[in-house]
Amino acid sequence: MHKIDARRAIDALIDHVGKGGRGSVLYQNMPVFGRRGQARYDEARLAGVQFIRVVAEPPVFCVEDGRIRVTALDEVLPERPLGLLVDRLVLPGSVRPAEGYTRLARIIAQPLDDEGFLQPSNVRHAPTATARKGVFFCGRCHEDTDDEGSELEAEALVSHVLGVLPAEGTIRLPEEVVTVDVARCVSCLTCLRLCPHGAIAMREQGMSHSVTISDTACFECGICAAACPRQAITHGGLTNEQLTAAANVAAEPFLGKPTLVVFACSQGAVQAADGAGRMGLELPAEAMIIDVPCAGRISEVHIMDALVAGAGGVVVLGCHAHNCRSLHGSDAAQHRTERTRASIETLGMDPDRVQFHSIAANEGARLAHILERAASAMNEE
Ligand code: SF4
Ligand code: SF4
Repeated sequence: MHKIDARRAIDALIDHVGKGGRGSVLYQNMPVFGRRGQARYDEARLAGVQFIRVVAEPPVFCVEDGRIRVTALDEVLPERPLGLLVDRLVLPGSVRPAEGYTRLARIIAQPLDDEGFLQPSNVRHAPTATARKGVFFCGRCHEDTDDEGSELEAEALVSHVLGVLPAEGTIRLPEEVVTVDVARCVSCLTCLRLCPHGAIAMREQGMSHSVTISDTACFECGICAAACPRQAITHGGLTNEQLTAAANVAAEPFLGKPTLVVFACSQGAVQAADGAGRMGLELPAEAMIIDVPCAGRISEVHIMDALVAGAGGVVVLGCHAHNCRSLHGSDAAQHRTERTRASIETLGMDPDRVQFHSIAANEGARLAHILERAASAMNEE
């Protein structure tokens, strides 16, 4: 049953029972949503509406003496089929995605679920943000959204918009942070293919083409800067030179022991490290955390720089699948880590000196455990 049908069924039954009738809901899952939904559900139960969870087998319907007999298997006593004689039977409607959802999903860079609905599984974007900057009016395209859900989404959207509106009259455009050196660019289109936020475009310039980055669309994840084979893209917030310098400092021995250089995504792992601190958990002293906008900002070169500078190990911390704000930034980081592991193995080094882990912002304890294990393994070598 979908949320919207559940809400309608509960409302109708409260009304019916209020007029002296009786009513039951047979369900496999009862999608009660939000405070108002829970309150209506409780109200219905108190009013005497019966909620019966049935097993997955569909109920059987037949007509008996002019009434409808419903036979279903109650989840509590499945061996004793439940029979109800009812005057009126209301079945949930079938909700299907509209035709345009696939195109819409492409435009706002949100995945579709198995049934073709836009789904808010990415915790950084749900329920109203997407991997595209801008204001998109999409209507109600989540399968499991009812009126209350839509109202909440509308309120969240308004607060987003108010957040970008200036206190005094003028909207200041974001400063140019990620830039392309057109003279270095060979138009390989790697950056255009990889940018998860649709911020890169190819523009014609006379007889040639060149890549341009839209400051208003860019999330400054740095995936493009890490991937450009010509190093034609500069991330002004965290340049390659700054990353190398940070890795060099972090790789300096601590109390005579090698360190663990940790490139941590600011969207998840850095917050997990803060959380570990708040929980009173100590991260290993060897772990030197470098805050990066997205794990996808880190290339093989940055990892190798840290090893060459003397780090005992390198850990890249990205986000869990489907939770990366930049959609595939974490996957890109994992692939680059795997490639670096393979490279250092051919050089005779232990590949486990380079590791990738995915961490959510609320996994401080797990982060502490991962870093503890990596530091101990490094110290055992
Ligand atoms: S990846 Fe680099 S070289 Fe390739 S198109 Fe983008 S800026 Fe140009
Ligand atoms: S920094 Fe990220 S969002 Fe910005 S252009 Fe590069 S890949 Fe796209």
